[in-house]
Amino acid sequence: MIDLHVHSAYSDGLLSPEALCALALHKRLRAIALCDHDTTDGLALMVAMVDTLNRTEERLVFLPAVELSTGDEGRIHMLGYGVNTSSKPLQLAMAEIRQDRITRGHRMMEALAALGISIPPELLPDEHTVGMPIGRPHVARALIQLGVVNTMEQAFDRYLAVGKPAYVPLKHLPTVEAIGLLLSAGAVPVLAHPMRIGLESQLLESLIHSLQNAGLRGMEVFHPSASHGDVHILQGIARRNGLLVTGGSDFHGDRGSRAQIGVLPAGWQTWQNDLAALLAAMQQQKYTGVKPVAHDANAACLDIAGDIGL
Ligand code: AMP
Ligand code: MN
Ligand code: MN
Ligand code: MN
Repeated sequence: MIDLHVHSAYSDGLLSPEALCALALHKRLRAIALCDHDTTDGLALMVAMVDTLNRTEERLVFLPAVELSTGDEGRIHMLGYGVNTSSKPLQLAMAEIRQDRITRGHRMMEALAALGISIPPELLPDEHTVGMPIGRPHVARALIQLGVVNTMEQAFDRYLAVGKPAYVPLKHLPTVEAIGLLLSAGAVPVLAHPMRIGLESQLLESLIHSLQNAGLRGMEVFHPSASHGDVHILQGIARRNGLLVTGGSDFHGDRGSRAQIGVLPAGWQTWQNDLAALLAAMQQQKYTGVKPVAHDANAACLDIAGDIGL
């Protein structure tokens, strides 16, 4: 079917945009969205590749996107579909976060060194390579290569997850600000993997109401983090509130990971309509540009976020 959430080596994925396209074609996907963290640098290559693939017949729909982590500890992830890569405010904000990733990478190395673990620099991305800043998955993969842990899960559980000894926080945007930046970059803001926020459904719905006031337009209902029951609840929230419904695997290219390209929770019967609605919203946002955020919406959102500890 379709996969509206994958990562390339431009952020913390393993595959090049070209390889992702080839894989999407091999799996006979109809649409794919590249959603790298904090960068849009991989999008041009992917556009070029998809154009080539589609030269003789329309084989793959491509949605340019980006993923921003927001709020305390970056617990909320916001996807922006149809992002305009030449948006100055967005590029400035992302450049700052990428710079912070470099500093934070050094601090993670110090924290691991204090535990007697030293990671040779060649196992990590080169910090001088533009557009490929270090994230926790890079460190997790290095820990596997060193034989310190066996799986990515173990690396996070023992060292890298919030509260674990090598956890170092990253700079995150306030959620409302991230939504505003995405809107100003002509993108349609969609809440990624809502189950990962860890809220029970009523609180999640309150959060969504306030995020909608700030300009949120959709929810990633079909993501591997949602069980069959979760999907039912999430879809209910999304449809009741007029949100676009999206789905994506969050594929990063790791072997043995639960996230494999094109593999989503079962039951997305309406994917064709939902994709069409998303594409229409992208088209509209591109021309409407920024929708100003009402001042009280901003305040209400911050209140709720505060109430529920985000
Ligand atoms: P960072 O943006 O550097 O804080 O790293 C967050 C990234 O780590 C996410 O985008 C996921 O790709 C990955 N991640 C987070 N938690 C886990 C986990 N428990 N197992 C594997 N990967 C994870
Ligand atoms: Mn990631
Ligand atoms: Mn995410
Ligand atoms: Mn992701």
